[in-house]
Amino acid sequence: MEHQPPHRGRHPRPAVSDTIVAAATPPGRGGIAIVRVSGAATPQIGRSLLGQLPPPRVATAARFRDAAGGAIDDGLALYFPAPHSYTGEHVLELHGHGSPVLVEAMIRRLLELGGRRAQPGEFTQRAYLNAKLDLAQAEAVADLIDAASDAAARAALRSLEGEFSNRVLALSQTLAELRAHVEAAIDFADEQIDVLSDQSLQARLTAASSDLQALRSASRQGRLLNEGMTIVIAGRPNAGKSSLLNRLAGHDAAIVTATPGTTRDLLRERMVLDGMPLQVLDTAGLRSAGDAIEAEGIRRARAAMAGADRILFVIDAAADPQAAGYLEQRSLLPPQVPVTVVFNKIDLAAPTADAVENMPAVRLSALTGEGFDTLTTHLKACMGFEPGSADVLSARARHLEALAQVDAYLTQAARQLAARNAPELVAEELKRAQQALGEIVGAESSDELLGRIFARFCIGK
Ligand code: GDP
Repeated sequence: MEHQPPHRGRHPRPAVSDTIVAAATPPGRGGIAIVRVSGAATPQIGRSLLGQLPPPRVATAARFRDAAGGAIDDGLALYFPAPHSYTGEHVLELHGHGSPVLVEAMIRRLLELGGRRAQPGEFTQRAYLNAKLDLAQAEAVADLIDAASDAAARAALRSLEGEFSNRVLALSQTLAELRAHVEAAIDFADEQIDVLSDQSLQARLTAASSDLQALRSASRQGRLLNEGMTIVIAGRPNAGKSSLLNRLAGHDAAIVTATPGTTRDLLRERMVLDGMPLQVLDTAGLRSAGDAIEAEGIRRARAAMAGADRILFVIDAAADPQAAGYLEQRSLLPPQVPVTVVFNKIDLAAPTADAVENMPAVRLSALTGEGFDTLTTHLKACMGFEPGSADVLSARARHLEALAQVDAYLTQAARQLAARNAPELVAEELKRAQQALGEIVGAESSDELLGRIFARFCIGK
């Protein structure tokens, strides 16, 4: 029986033989432009282009030559022989003047010498195939480049440096050991009961579950930083939901009127608030509706709420100082989504209730903007946007789904163990949990998944 933890990255494949070429710096004019070459033919291409290969890992002044031996450009050349390079292959970096014309001329020359243009993300894909990075780290490269804020960049760097993967691998290692323990009981049928009632086994499974919870929460925060948080604005008609959305978005996204029930549709607004990506949904409200259009709006509002990261429940502090609107709609809200109570219209009246059922509460006026900063700060804290929130690891929806599966399998395993059911059943759940962890780091991943992940990279990365 095999108890190997997942390999970091993929089991190395036979080396890819062709040599890829791309600009590593963005298109346009600049001080320097870098063109990168990776693959088996790199040394020979380098010799033809430069006259001779520079010594490994030493920045060397060089003339980049055309076929007739004339100069295309002057610059620096850096040679990284395999396997000590980003891709794990022979890599040549050519630093020339930052001119799009020169870059194109360099690339054409490199194609002439036997290179081909790289696909988006192909350098990083090779790094993954050569086990330089695992899949979660490769995704963190793209997240780092795309980071829209300091906090998102920090989280991506931690994942790139392997913190996320290491925690996934450590968990997988623990599960492998537990499985070995349980499977030993299958082979020695007489001792099955002893093994399954072993307190230390239960305790280790519980410890693994709590590690998993910490990892889930760190990566949930990381996904919020990368992909933004989805917020639903709910509340009684006329509480000021559309006004709040408009103030968040900074323009007239929803029609604000004083007649209840005018927000007939679900409005989706993407916005960036102080560098924090947000998707905000304004709903038609949850009250029982008289007409069909309103009823459809309510159905959609409920579906949107269930998938949100947070509900902002708006109360008209003047008309509803005791927050009766919340108590009346509470049962309609999805129980798993956290709620922040927003006491609106404080320019008209101070709310008499301080808090509602211990939920975080913010007081503001969507009309005057008073208190709006408090809401922004609160939302940032919820997203892990504050410098103090250390345990944030950049993660993607697919990682969260895999971790949720792991959680379900471990819960099942614990249940089987507690019921002292057949050890095969416990072992099977542990194995599935390990497989789901393997998908995150790419120990088990389909070519289709890889294609999807790397296609989202920019060319040259
Ligand atoms: P919704 O039905 O919940 O979307 O509420 P609206 O945003 O359409 O607002 C209903 C009415 O309340 C409009 O006349 C708004 O101008 C008014 N309103 C919204 N927020 C405030 C506020 O903070 N102060 C005051 N005085 N009026 C507000």
